[in-house]
Amino acid sequence: MTATALAPLAVLNEVFGYAAFRGQQQDIIQHVSAGGDALVLMPTGGGKSLCYQVPAIVRHRREQGVAIVVSPLIALMHDQVGALEEAGVHAAFLNSTLTLDDTQKIEREMMSGRLVLLYAAPERITTPRMLAQLDSLHERGLLSLFAIDEAHCVSQWGHDFREDYLSLNVLHERWPDVPRIALTATADDLTRADIITRLQLQTARVFISSFDRPNIRYSIVEKDDARKQLLRFIRDEHEGDAGIVYCQSRKKVEETAAWLNDEGLAALPYHAGLDADVRKRHQDRFLREDGIVMVATIAFGMGIDKPDVRFVAHLDLPKNIESYYQETGRAGRDGAPADAWMAYGLADVVNQRRMIDESPAEEEFKRGQRSKLDALLALAEAHDCRRVRLLAYFGEESSPCGNCDNCLNPPATWDATEASRKALSCIYRFHQNRGQRFGAGHLIDVLRGKVTDKVSQYGHEQLSTFGIGADLSETQWRGVLRQLIALGHLRTEGEYNTLELTASAREVLKGEVALLLRVPSEAPKTSRSGRTGRVTKAGGGREKPAPIALDDDGQRRYAALKAWRAEVAREHNLPAYVVFHDATLAEMARDQPSSLDELGGISGVGAKKLEAYGREILRVLGEAA
Ligand code: ADP
Ligand code: ZN
Repeated sequence: MTATALAPLAVLNEVFGYAAFRGQQQDIIQHVSAGGDALVLMPTGGGKSLCYQVPAIVRHRREQGVAIVVSPLIALMHDQVGALEEAGVHAAFLNSTLTLDDTQKIEREMMSGRLVLLYAAPERITTPRMLAQLDSLHERGLLSLFAIDEAHCVSQWGHDFREDYLSLNVLHERWPDVPRIALTATADDLTRADIITRLQLQTARVFISSFDRPNIRYSIVEKDDARKQLLRFIRDEHEGDAGIVYCQSRKKVEETAAWLNDEGLAALPYHAGLDADVRKRHQDRFLREDGIVMVATIAFGMGIDKPDVRFVAHLDLPKNIESYYQETGRAGRDGAPADAWMAYGLADVVNQRRMIDESPAEEEFKRGQRSKLDALLALAEAHDCRRVRLLAYFGEESSPCGNCDNCLNPPATWDATEASRKALSCIYRFHQNRGQRFGAGHLIDVLRGKVTDKVSQYGHEQLSTFGIGADLSETQWRGVLRQLIALGHLRTEGEYNTLELTASAREVLKGEVALLLRVPSEAPKTSRSGRTGRVTKAGGGREKPAPIALDDDGQRRYAALKAWRAEVAREHNLPAYVVFHDATLAEMARDQPSSLDELGGISGVGAKKLEAYGREILRVLGEAA
């Protein structure tokens, strides 16, 4: 093995077919290849896998043996390993889905040191049998590296806590000289500290990447008729694209998926209440077929590394910014433009607060949850750059991004100080009236001067605040109330979500706080047809546009390459993107390489794939020319 073949950059070029490292990849890979421990914090889609795969290959080439990858997700190991084998890297996984025969074959490959990477779940790695096998490898100098993926699973603070991760401290205790790299997309200090102590990574170098995902466009719209808004968003911007729609409840998942299907979209439901085999089938279809919309609870998503998810939509408010960022981060891992879209309304604010209030947790914990929710609400109500706020939440300073709804269409604001005072004083009047409390609907009726049965029953047409808000529509009033709750001047209570003033309401009532609120946006104001990298096919048709601009002939070649890829993927029982990413096929279609050499220069074409598929691709391109 020559010295150049051992250089990380050479491995990146040759094996993965990529020209350059991204961000901190190079430093991380150098450090780990040289035997150092590392903790890597990188956003979803940032490129964590290469941070341990390249060192594993480099160390294997130096005859340092097998890298062990700890991953919590048995269901996804097959595809991860398939992707490596496609790139010519000898990899395997051990889990309960294998036959005895296969298990023994893989164990032989591992024990001989021929394997480059072995994937396994933590409970597998800590079995006496496996520990003994690793001892034997170690004695022979063939245990090259431990990579601990989704390392936040070791933390009780995160929502993905896995008991089995706790026993991974054995790795360091038993084989202190074997380098370890722990990776996660969870950024907060508490989780980070937990990972360091529990995995005994005190001396590891910590690599913190920027959490920005510049290709993701963030939009948050006021809910009006959420399902219709969603449909319009998909039809206008993402016809034929793969996407994820998150809903809070299983029931809503089922209903939304069924409804989208009725509207002619290929949508599938996914939640923890479905049978394991249904879940697996739906997940497989999402990964393998083009343009599936997965409607899911948060049970879906961890470890899904499908690169071409073009949008993530939220029909319900997530718990906090961490969840929002993790979920939206599943869009656009391939770096091409992608959307994070959320519809949110008064009921979301009320429900999320209630869920916290009614949970059996300790008061201190609830306080933490509430302040995290507040941060998310402030993001939703913001009229300035969403990305600046998101990144600030993760401790990063930035300037307006030009790629979020607020940057692209600065929302109109209006001075709602007076309106807010009217609403709050009306609630105050109710309260003065024998401590009565009412919900938003009744309050709005009174403000707008509507004589309903309830208004007459309580004699509220006599109140001085009756009809003082007739100048605003019901929607506008809902917006005011939602924002007052989001800003903490109002809260809701009890089964009927009655409205209560908070301590800070007094300052608003006294006119000490000025409130500038968003004017509810109506239909989307921009058309995206001019957006970078998105071209609409001339002459209509529903063909999905290529990720880079292509002329009509280019589109035809792209379609031919995709058809060829689909066949290969089916034969190999792997998702299409494992064979080649869309972006790689598009580049081929645009540049029309005419020799293997030229083809090898395209991003995403490594040596093994060139050898395996090169001639076929040149043939397909030739025929479609
Ligand atoms: P993460 O695990 O951090 O969410 P992945 O490792 O799945 O991210 O990488 C996201 C995508 O970016 C993958 O499709 C991967 O092939 C691609 N990628 C990562 N690093 C590079 C690079 N240096 N050059 C080109 N593409 C890269
Ligand atoms: Zn912005």
